[in-house]
Amino acid sequence: MEDSRYARQERLPQIGASGQKALRDRTVAIIGLGALGSVGSDLLARAGVGRLLLIDRDIVEASNLQRQTLYTEEDARLGLPKAVAAEQRLAAVNPEVGLDIHAIDLTAENIQGVLAGVDLILDGTDNFATRYLLNDYAVAKQVAFVYAGVVGTYGMLGAIVPGGACLRCTWPEPPDAAESPTCRSAGVLGPAVSVIAGWAAAEAIKILVGKAEEVHAGYRYLDVWQGTHHAIYAKREEACLCCGKGEHPWLSGGRGTLAAQVICAGGAVQVPSPGHASDLPALASRLEGTVQDIKLAGAFLRFHVDDLDVIHFVDGRSLVRGTEDPARARAVLARTVGC
Ligand SMILES: [Zn+2]
Repeated sequence: MEDSRYARQERLPQIGASGQKALRDRTVAIIGLGALGSVGSDLLARAGVGRLLLIDRDIVEASNLQRQTLYTEEDARLGLPKAVAAEQRLAAVNPEVGLDIHAIDLTAENIQGVLAGVDLILDGTDNFATRYLLNDYAVAKQVAFVYAGVVGTYGMLGAIVPGGACLRCTWPEPPDAAESPTCRSAGVLGPAVSVIAGWAAAEAIKILVGKAEEVHAGYRYLDVWQGTHHAIYAKREEACLCCGKGEHPWLSGGRGTLAAQVICAGGAVQVPSPGHASDLPALASRLEGTVQDIKLAGAFLRFHVDDLDVIHFVDGRSLVRGTEDPARARAVLARTVGC
């Protein structure tokens, strides 16, 4: 007798047949299908989650293949949207999983329609504007949100469950983009991503099988090179503007992820300010060596990357020349400016 597909997982007392059925009845949205999203979506598809929403605004490039485990050389050669390449791969991994793809930039304008009905949101993003949008949405709609981020050899993860502390209880404001390292500027170790994304997927599975009380109440910080791990405890703050006072400016469009606007037919996209000014000299020194032709003038910083000309203004606004694709412009800004 051959064991069923999920036999080893059902054998776990923490999951069992009832947990397996719960997984099959759940829908998870994975926002960002880069390195974290590759590992997370693969694990959840194999675990037998009933339906996955695969959301990403970018295309597969050769420089992704070192760590983005869903993709192949062929996907990069074809320049497939990550959502499309991920769907092909995951359908082959587990045809029992329902897959819905959205090759879009998730914004305050479209999030309510796209994420309607999901049971859990898994963070695979590379920027804080989208994470704060997801946090606002998760708190407003009482949906679980598993946060994850990796850069260099370290990363952090944490589960935000309805009624518990939210991201803004601990960090009321996102970090200054100019001071935050990105994978492009600092590099990233593939195994660090697998560890963080794997642990985040475990927290997601606990919530999906109805054991949200067993997730860690806060965040975990890990450095796989140094072998360090810190558990950070988070407490729900009654004074938190998000979960305490019900203010959701990222969700209402007042902050962060307003849709980028194509401002002319001449091949440029304007991306509005995330709501705070940029420290241009700090940003310039951080980008040194990772982009070309950096020029710092009084009110703006200009550089060249991936055949695109980026002009980033001191008020936080950016202009990306060489494309009329808002998703591509925002993806390039997330990897460089970090907004
Ligand atoms: Zn809060």
